[in-house]
Amino acid sequence: MNICLFCAISAGKIPAHVVYEDDRTMAFLDIHPSAPGHTLIIPKTHAARIEDLSAEDAAALFSALHRLAKPIREAVEAEAATVGINDGPGSGQEVPHVHVHVIPRRRGDGGTLIQLVARTGTRGTSLADVADKIRKKIAQPTNG
Ligand code: AMP
Ligand code: ZN
Repeated sequence: MNICLFCAISAGKIPAHVVYEDDRTMAFLDIHPSAPGHTLIIPKTHAARIEDLSAEDAAALFSALHRLAKPIREAVEAEAATVGINDGPGSGQEVPHVHVHVIPRRRGDGGTLIQLVARTGTRGTSLADVADKIRKKIAQPTNG
C-alpha cells in the first residue's frame, strides 16, 4: 500500500523534527532546507491540492502560519521569510500533500522573489481578458 509521506509524518510513523502541532496542523523542518529554519506546515488530514482542503483546514493552515512565521524567523535570526505552496506537479510539487514552505530569508542569500518562479509573463493575453475569465470561473457553481 502506498502511504503518503506527510500523512506518515503526521501519524508519527516517520520521524521528523516537529516544531509545532495543533488539532488540525503540524509543522516540521524540511529535510533538505533551502535555508536554516526552512519549515513545512501541513494539514493533518490528507489533501493533495489547495482546493481539496476543507474550509476549516484551509483556515487552520493560515492560522498556524500566522502563529509560526515570527518565531521561525527569530529562531534563526533571519530578517524575512518567503512563504509559498507548490500546488500541483506542474509547479514542482513533489509531495502530494498540501504543505506551506516557510523559508527564512536574509539579504544576500542568493534567493529570489516568489513572483520570479515563472517567467512567461502575459503570453500575449490582456489583463482585462484574464480577469474576466477568472471572474467567470469563480462564478461557476462548481467553484463555490
Ligand atoms: P514540494 O512538494 O516540491 O513543495 O517539496 C516537498 C518538500 O518536502 C521538499 O522541500 C523536501 O525537501 C521535503 N521533504 C521530503 N521528504 C521529507 C521528510 N521525510 N521530512 C521533511 N521534509 C521532507
Ligand atoms: Zn497525505
